[in-house]
Amino acid sequence: MPPVDPAAVLHWFRRDLRLADNPALEWIAEQAAPALFVYLHAPREEAPWMPGGASNWWLHHSLAALGEGLAAQGHSLICVADESAAALIRLCHDHAIRRVTWNRRYEPHLVARDQRVASALHANGIETRTFDDGLLFPPGGLLNRQHAPYRVFTPFWREARKRLIEATSTLNRVPRERLSPHGNGVGVRTQVQDLNLLDPHPWHAKLAAHHTPGEAAAWRRLEGFLGERLQGYPEAREIPGVAGTSILSPHLHFGEIDIRRVVAAALDLTQARPEKSAGGERFLSELGWREFARHILHHFPASDRNALDSRFNEGMWQEDPEGLAKWQRGETGIPLVDAGMRELWRTGWMHNRVRMIVGSLLTKNLGIHWLAGARWFWDTLVDADLANNSLGWQWIAGCGVDAAPYFRIFNPETQAQKFDPKGEYIQRWLGRDHLPSPIVDLKESRRLALERYSAHVKGALRAS
Ligand SMILES: Cc1cc2nc3c(=O)[nH]c(=O)nc-3n(C[C@H](O)[C@H](O)[C@H](O)COP(=O)(O)OP(=O)(O)OC[C@H]3O[C@@H](n4cnc5c(N)ncnc54)[C@H](O)[C@@H]3O)c2cc1C
Repeated sequence: MPPVDPAAVLHWFRRDLRLADNPALEWIAEQAAPALFVYLHAPREEAPWMPGGASNWWLHHSLAALGEGLAAQGHSLICVADESAAALIRLCHDHAIRRVTWNRRYEPHLVARDQRVASALHANGIETRTFDDGLLFPPGGLLNRQHAPYRVFTPFWREARKRLIEATSTLNRVPRERLSPHGNGVGVRTQVQDLNLLDPHPWHAKLAAHHTPGEAAAWRRLEGFLGERLQGYPEAREIPGVAGTSILSPHLHFGEIDIRRVVAAALDLTQARPEKSAGGERFLSELGWREFARHILHHFPASDRNALDSRFNEGMWQEDPEGLAKWQRGETGIPLVDAGMRELWRTGWMHNRVRMIVGSLLTKNLGIHWLAGARWFWDTLVDADLANNSLGWQWIAGCGVDAAPYFRIFNPETQAQKFDPKGEYIQRWLGRDHLPSPIVDLKESRRLALERYSAHVKGALRAS
């Protein structure tokens, strides 16, 4: 083993796959510490939410882009498929390093994993230094007057909005060019392909026509959106047939761009260009939902599997494997729903309004558990994100915080008339395909859903 370099640092990349505005990398640059860069693939540590197929496709290409970005600065990205603690201890030993950095993750099961990893490293004489990232406010950093978590978005956002400038004030302290490579890591090949993230069956080739993972692409998306779409965003974001939203969600999930940077850019534009201020405020509040989702998952760590409104946990949902399979394949016979499910299957992404409509059909008209929908989204979305997905599904099922009331049931036909009046979206994803007869009668299944929900509400009232 070469002699230990006390200044050297190993940085463990996770969902911070970027060089700019990366808190741990800024700290390393400040120290002028020689650094070794590592990505570890240990999906079983993420169980029960191991990344799905579409996420793995994104991850593969994002790591390749990160490797290129590092190579352009004379660094290497070492990719290892192994258990995290063991791999870090071995790498530190092999490269004579005694300090490890990472940016924190907040999914409850990963917080626990990271605590175990830190303990193992400490037991082996390796220091750890971790940083907040991916959030505007650290978990627990926004509480209501009773010092309790907000359960409703509007007051949460009112408070967060007042403090946005403070949340972005830590940006741009040190230019990233000051990162210096750790000698022992130089020349190590980027081995993303060795992680086997890509399914041997090339079903995922179609995703490349719709997305470009990586930091540079994330910046292009942000700049393109702010320049061309922000002004019309409040209206255009509702229309699935037009490209009215930012499609930043996968970039944000993988940490290819810093949420503080996105917020700061939107704030600047909102202040400088009055014609963009309505669009800017709306966009900021959608980013606020992302923040809210993270705080909710932190405060209610079982909300990825249990309804926050416990009245809807037991005996509420129906087993219907056939209905679920038809929903997944976009064969419900209901045009807007089938168009949405096919958009998801072909592109790994689905418009937010359509996510709500397909979610409402699954949980309300078909009465299937919201977790079945959440799991399908988890496998098929390139932006699959535990906090946003759990919040979105609980919201649409009417059982989460600040949820749509259970009696709000989206009618896909009237939604199509309102938000896809010329049928452009439906036409794009269904083309000339002949649809089967609808698998549910929308009116009758709505009536049954209302009965089911209200029976549970009354049952809970009697029990209390
Ligand atoms: C049932 C359901 C499941 C969902 N699952 C996910 C998921 O796994 N991953 C995910 O990122 N989003 C999820 N969402 C939220 C939302 O649909 C997507 O974030 C949005 O469609 C992404 O597109 P965009 O980047 O163009 O959004 P934009 O309209 O451009 O919004 C900008 C950003 O704000 C955030 N955002 C917007 N809407 C929401 C929202 N409702 N909740 C939380 N954050 C939001 C996202 O980070 C998004 O990138 C889900 C919504 C529903 C109803």
